[in-house]
Amino acid sequence: MKKSDRELGMGQDITRRDFIHDAGLAALGLSVPLGVTASGDSGSAGQYYPPTRTGLRGSHPGAFETAHGLALEGRSFATPRDLDEEYDLVVVGAGISGLAAAHYYRAKFGKNARILILENHDDFGGHAKRNEFHQGGQMRLSLGGTHNLEYWKFSSTVKAMMDDLGIDTDKMLRDKEFGYGRNGRNGPALWFDADTYGQDKLLTGCSLNETDSERMVACVDEFPVSQMARDQLKHFYTMRTNVLEGKSEEQARAFLEGTAYTDFLRRYGGLEDEAVHLFDNANHGGWGVESRSLSIAECIEVGLPGLHLLGKSSLAEEGQYPAAFFPDGNASLTRLQVHALIPAVAPGTNADNIAMAKFDYTRLDRPGAPVRLRLNSTVVNATNIDSGVAVTYINNGQSLRVKARHCVMACYHVIIPHLCPELPEAQKTAQKYQVKRPLLLTNVLIRSSDAMDKLGIAGVRCPGRMHGNMFMFKGINTGGYRHKFADTGPVPLAFWGSISPPQNVVDLKDQLRASRAKMLALTFEDYEREVRTVLKGLLGPAGFDVKRDVLAITVNRWPHGYSDDYLHLWTPEWPEGNAPHEIASRPFGNITMANADAGANAYTHVAIDEAYRAVQELV
Ligand SMILES: Cc1cc2nc3c(=O)[nH]c(=O)nc-3n(C[C@H](O)[C@H](O)[C@H](O)COP(=O)(O)OP(=O)(O)OC[C@H]3O[C@@H](n4cnc5c(N)ncnc54)[C@H](O)[C@@H]3O)c2cc1C
Repeated sequence: MKKSDRELGMGQDITRRDFIHDAGLAALGLSVPLGVTASGDSGSAGQYYPPTRTGLRGSHPGAFETAHGLALEGRSFATPRDLDEEYDLVVVGAGISGLAAAHYYRAKFGKNARILILENHDDFGGHAKRNEFHQGGQMRLSLGGTHNLEYWKFSSTVKAMMDDLGIDTDKMLRDKEFGYGRNGRNGPALWFDADTYGQDKLLTGCSLNETDSERMVACVDEFPVSQMARDQLKHFYTMRTNVLEGKSEEQARAFLEGTAYTDFLRRYGGLEDEAVHLFDNANHGGWGVESRSLSIAECIEVGLPGLHLLGKSSLAEEGQYPAAFFPDGNASLTRLQVHALIPAVAPGTNADNIAMAKFDYTRLDRPGAPVRLRLNSTVVNATNIDSGVAVTYINNGQSLRVKARHCVMACYHVIIPHLCPELPEAQKTAQKYQVKRPLLLTNVLIRSSDAMDKLGIAGVRCPGRMHGNMFMFKGINTGGYRHKFADTGPVPLAFWGSISPPQNVVDLKDQLRASRAKMLALTFEDYEREVRTVLKGLLGPAGFDVKRDVLAITVNRWPHGYSDDYLHLWTPEWPEGNAPHEIASRPFGNITMANADAGANAYTHVAIDEAYRAVQELV
């Protein structure tokens, strides 16, 4: 039976609203509830400091309405007022790519180049945001978006930038104990919730990706599903066959890349709907889509079971993800980037203390500084003119225009046709092809990890809930920050995944749009109710009091999340050099195109490589 709001502690006074958490509260001289301080150690009272804001973050209220007005409603804006500011470069978007573009521009055109970076959010970093909580004199960091560095994929360009910023991924690996929730004393865990499965049930030492069939059978025996589904699952996990037998290499590839994983589970694994649905949201974090939208190859690549049906002995590939982490994800990378461009923002900062560095946001946009970063500014037009580019943006309801020699579009590609209506039609179509995948990362600061420790878990997979995964975010001791895995006390729980579209939506892009619409329509209370339901059902039996032990909630919505990297089932063959991202990222006069979208790949290093290319194209 659904828990009432009272049972879930929905009325509890937590630090959850936007804009009351830093300047607002402090300016009003109000105390902050539950001992969670607002900007805490990170800034003096009244300072503008977005990382401590809680409530709806990521794509926060106020960040996207102007762009949506332009793109979805064809809204026009007042004639812009020309500012008395001239730049060599205007960058649209202060994500990793936009910040990298500013870096490469200075390398190419000199340190005296005047650069303005315009960003529609109230904080810089794009997807790479940090959530900062303060509790009893301690700062606890968590991911607001982009997680980690896949250093083994870095190009020499990206490696050079990392070296410039002093980032040492070997050291980061040495200082990492975090294991995405799989490193609890009792191993990985599955949690079945009462709303979906009729009872709350935690199974420790169990994972849908289990590599040992005997252990898997013991787990499945405990699944609160029908006997028929249990039998099918046990048969699936124990069978050994090779459906590729007799197929040539080419045929095998066509099969693995051309068959939906869930069809494979049905047709060859003998599973029916009830059992298949256990896998629905298993790829929300990794791929940002439903499992039904992925091929066999894509699912097996990330460790879902199936190898044993392909002539291999193992059910799945076991492995820890070896990526390098800062304690706020790649927010530390963007903070280092900003510091390199605008040193006054945090004097004395380096890669060894970046996580703890105090950033003074009043320094970001100072007249006379060679690089200026302007937040809360949504670009609505960029037009080539004789002397360069005229860029119009909306800030605080005002339409303003600046001129520059060059402009790099480091924003989402899908908005560019609306900013540059004079682009060739083929380029606009190619840009609109890029529909990003919605992602959701909700951080809940809890009073202590006692209940998790008692259960011996560091995280769970939740096949029936909105967030498919939850993990404790601690055990990353880099950038001067220490939160050892063994530490007790307040800890952020990261609820991670996406939002499922309705089952009857078939086309991938329709699924992504439906998921995005749902994500934006849900209120903070909807997300709060969701995480409280999980916490009560999962941790309640171990002594967690959902009314007392939830200290703060930050919902990071990313309706435009991962760049589309051309999933097998949805991607036709394009003529050489004419894939949508290649057409989309062609230069247009004095305007060039960066962002991870330009590489059709949702990776930090791709965002940097594309920035480098975009700057080299400027003459
Ligand atoms: C939750 C999440 C987790 C991720 N995890 C990883 C990971 O672990 N590893 C990894 O490599 N990648 C990860 N990614 C992918 C991530 O997208 C890239 O790593 C990288 O951050 C992309 O940087 P970017 O600068 O290209 O784009 P973005 O970060 O999207 O930056 C573009 C910026 O432009 C702004 N903008 C858009 N339109 C306008 C406008 N009209 N005016 C002004 N500004 C505008 C946007 O708001 C945004 O701030 C993750 C993404 C998400 C959302």
